[in-house]
Amino acid sequence: MGSGKARSSPASGRGGATADRGAALGESASEPAARPGEPIWHYAPAPESRDVVSIEPEYGLFVAGTFRPAADGRTFATVNPATEEPLAQVAAAGQADVDAAVGAARAAYEQVWQPMPGSERAKYLYRIARQLQERAREFAVLESLDNGKPIKESRDVDIPLAAAHFFYYAGWADKLEYAGYGPDPRPLGVAGQVIPWNFPLLMAAWKLAPALAAGNTCVLKPAETTPLTALLLAEVCQQAGLPPGVVNVLTGAGDTGAALVRHPGVTKVAFTGSTEVGKEIARTVAGTDKKLTLELGGKAANIVFDDAPVEQAVEGIVNGIFFNQGHVCCAGSRLLVQESVADIVVERLQRRLATLRLGDPLDKNTDIGAINSRQQLDKINELTQAGEAEGAQRWSPPCQLPAKGYWFAPTVFTGVSQSHRIAREEIFGPVLSVLTFRTPDEAVAKANNTPYGLSAGIWTDKGSRILWMAQQLRAGVIWANTYNRFDPASPFGGYQESGYGREGGRHGLAAYLNV
Ligand code: NDP
Repeated sequence: MGSGKARSSPASGRGGATADRGAALGESASEPAARPGEPIWHYAPAPESRDVVSIEPEYGLFVAGTFRPAADGRTFATVNPATEEPLAQVAAAGQADVDAAVGAARAAYEQVWQPMPGSERAKYLYRIARQLQERAREFAVLESLDNGKPIKESRDVDIPLAAAHFFYYAGWADKLEYAGYGPDPRPLGVAGQVIPWNFPLLMAAWKLAPALAAGNTCVLKPAETTPLTALLLAEVCQQAGLPPGVVNVLTGAGDTGAALVRHPGVTKVAFTGSTEVGKEIARTVAGTDKKLTLELGGKAANIVFDDAPVEQAVEGIVNGIFFNQGHVCCAGSRLLVQESVADIVVERLQRRLATLRLGDPLDKNTDIGAINSRQQLDKINELTQAGEAEGAQRWSPPCQLPAKGYWFAPTVFTGVSQSHRIAREEIFGPVLSVLTFRTPDEAVAKANNTPYGLSAGIWTDKGSRILWMAQQLRAGVIWANTYNRFDPASPFGGYQESGYGREGGRHGLAAYLNV
């Protein structure tokens, strides 16, 4: 992240980054914010080259090992949210394509993948993992172009973690009988997997790797706004020699996802996305014998006690809510800070936010990229306006947003009460709501006062308090003195309206086995 000393002057033309290319927030457009006598450190632009990626004008569906247009020829555009530049036309799968993909997946399941020894399946997963590593730069650039996330996040988080999931589950493929699910756990059949736009490749890896390791075949539906890395992953499957039909990728909108979920040939449904769509899917699947896992929204509390190291906690707060523009289901979107340290924590947080750099997602210095879509930007605007209307105090560092694309400055609301919409609803953007508490009991009561239950953070010097809090909090994942840490060996999932089932680790296998 940007150094506290970094300064740039967009208007100076002296090599400082412009807002479009990435400028530290908190700087005015016309003057550097250095104090007299303090050196001015400019960031030179450090854009990652786009040349490592070749984007085709049109993409087909990946069915039975080959790319083909949609049966009815429909397509849609995917755009770069940082510039609104159309990147490619992508096939929109209809019912006939869903039938074809599920049919291909069923045939591959019965004839090839399920009968194959786990040790052989593992080899394919290892190959995919290694290809992801070899083509990591290409994947990272493509992800940042299609999604808007900063290259340093796609490069250092999304792509390495996606590869790590394939490596990890490759290791399980020939050891399923030792996973604790009986001596001969069986796969379920064809998995219909619907994923969102916030971590496009990583969510594909979370879904595909355990399903394939367990012996299932897959039909994956990426989000409409971020189809490109899933299609590149399909190419990697081809490159790895994966038997045709084992992985199929159907691009399209919500109706494609709905058709996949209700298809009678699908025996397992895995969904990550909004609670609203998750409930709809649960209604569709109810009464069938399909197995279902749902990973839905969240409104996590990041809880800072008065004995926490303030600077470390501030880094954790920033990472908790401003990582990936806050487009994170487990984002620490509610800061619960002990009243006695609230002023200092907020003051340090504001100072830190002024050093973040917003702009070109492909610039390696960028901390805050673009909002993924116009629709998501509208939602963030609506909820933040509601926050002001309900009486919370809004603060953002001075910030020039690029003229084109979808952008939102990091925002902090103080004076938030529990009844405010910004304290209850998932904003899914770079917006933090600050609430205070006096006692640990009050912190627990406020943290649990949500229909969600995905994650939480605790910042304190006392180990006993961490353990006590972790027992009281109703959240699937709890981080102590850190936030947003992920590991393929660690299960992830929620309670209540955050969904059910676990992804990751040994637990993630259970979702794809007949146990
Ligand atoms: P959705 O839940 O609509 O989208 C997730 C995935 O489901 C996408 O692939 C989507 O396709 C697909 N889909 C949409 N409708 C259906 C349906 N009826 N049946 C099956 N699949 C469907 O999320 P949005 O992108 O609309 O985001 C809305 C809000 O959801 C966000 O503001 C955020 O609050 C929350 N969200 C939470 C996520 C999480 O990780 N928990 C991830 C993404 C969003 P398509 O992309 O074409 O619509």
